[in-house]
Amino acid sequence: MPLPVVAVIGRPNVGKSTIVNRLTGAKDAIVHDEPGVTRDRTYRPAFWRDREFLVVDTGGLVFDDETEFLPLIREQAEAALAEASAAVFVVDGQAGLTAADESIAGWLRQQSVPVLIAVNKCESIEQGLAQTAEFWSLGLGEPYAVSGIHGNGTGELLDDLLPYLPAIENLEEEDEIRVAIVGRPNVGKSSLLNAFVGENRAIVSPISGTTRDAIDMLVERDGKRYRLIDTAGIRKKKNVEYGPEFFGINRSFKAIRRANVVLLVVDALDGVTEQDQKLAGRIEEEGRACILVVNKWDAIEKDSHTIYDYERQIKERLHFLEWAEMIFVSAQTGQRVEKILELVNTAAEQHQRRVSTSVINEVLEEALRWHTPPTTRQGRQGRIYYGTQVSAQPPSIALFVNDPKLFNENYRRYIERQFRQQLGFTGSPIRLFWRGKKVREVERNTANRATRV
Ligand code: GDP
Ligand code: GDP
Repeated sequence: MPLPVVAVIGRPNVGKSTIVNRLTGAKDAIVHDEPGVTRDRTYRPAFWRDREFLVVDTGGLVFDDETEFLPLIREQAEAALAEASAAVFVVDGQAGLTAADESIAGWLRQQSVPVLIAVNKCESIEQGLAQTAEFWSLGLGEPYAVSGIHGNGTGELLDDLLPYLPAIENLEEEDEIRVAIVGRPNVGKSSLLNAFVGENRAIVSPISGTTRDAIDMLVERDGKRYRLIDTAGIRKKKNVEYGPEFFGINRSFKAIRRANVVLLVVDALDGVTEQDQKLAGRIEEEGRACILVVNKWDAIEKDSHTIYDYERQIKERLHFLEWAEMIFVSAQTGQRVEKILELVNTAAEQHQRRVSTSVINEVLEEALRWHTPPTTRQGRQGRIYYGTQVSAQPPSIALFVNDPKLFNENYRRYIERQFRQQLGFTGSPIRLFWRGKKVREVERNTANRATRV
């Protein structure tokens, strides 16, 4: 269920990064694509109104003379465009139309992607019209006058971009939960799979997944359907020799990307390894719900403290997943295996949960009362005007503030903790977007919504 991608394209120095920052909020997480599968592009999550998407900055299109692409750059830009639903072509309204812009436009016209032209550095509205006029000649439709620095014009650009983004599949309309079982070799993934599908109560049918040799299993339990993702990948390792480094990480990454809920299986005998940490990091980055399944619990000698010691150690080493529930099981004896599905249900529910704007703002109000935002030495204080949930899976909350820079990491974590404490979201990551807004604009929005702090 990947998010739609918007590619930002243009010559160096026209203001692409400035515009990307404006669309995404400078501090948001960076999402890398699978290493080795595609080139090293940087994806950043963005949203506008109630839609989420990824923005990929193709880097400056460099030319060997004024009009010819360097072949490598061209190849990279084409790869980026190939997966994009729309492209924003940024040009410099102060520098005016260049031969390089014409060359890029010519190339863009041959691609099968809708393109919007952003004429950047148009700070003044009167001059903006004049600045955009000459870009009509590029044959890519009406140019948009914008200023990456001040933000004007970007709203209209985004409004017109949204219709090009395909709607993402929505779990609320699906009647199945997609579950990926990931972990190092030999932690017991196949055994767990057998424990799930071997049960009499389960109705199992294999169906093909999206990638060529991926087979999913459909399991039905108590009226709920679970799609176990890429079970072929889990079972395939039989009779295959692997080097110590191998653990099919790309395949795991793909399964994570397709899942709603990931079971990260850890071997109780080995504890948490670096590979487990890689998977955990990816699960968090992709915004998937997760359950930490500590397997082979039967093989551990226990006293009354053991479970707490384990819990503490595992949480310490997998701190990106501090929100995930942990369960100690034995795939071999079947101990607590049934309980995993209960946790999956809860995590999936929390992952797709939507909280009303008024509840979000009650939490904010309370949080602000206990702990006011920091003030700089110059006396500027962070202000949070209001918050609203902009999307689910994972729950993502936009906070509209006077200036995101005024909120340090500590304070951001404090606010996130408050949302966790008050609203739960057990088993699911949450996202906070800190968005700077001019006060007048905020007031207009809050008036529309009729809710304010
Ligand atoms: P990129 O190479 O295309 O990513 O360009 P940058 O975002 O790094 O910007 C290049 C230069 O243009 C920087 O000096 C920016 O400060 C400046 N710049 C970017 N956006 C604007 C804008 O809207 N107005 C003006 N006047 N300058 C801008
Ligand atoms: P996978 O590579 O992650 O799919 O792991 P397998 O399911 O093939 O299991 C690897 C080995 O661990 C096998 O020898 C299993 O018998 C053993 N194993 C799996 N689950 C358990 C468990 O709960 N307890 C114990 N003691 N051994 C287990």
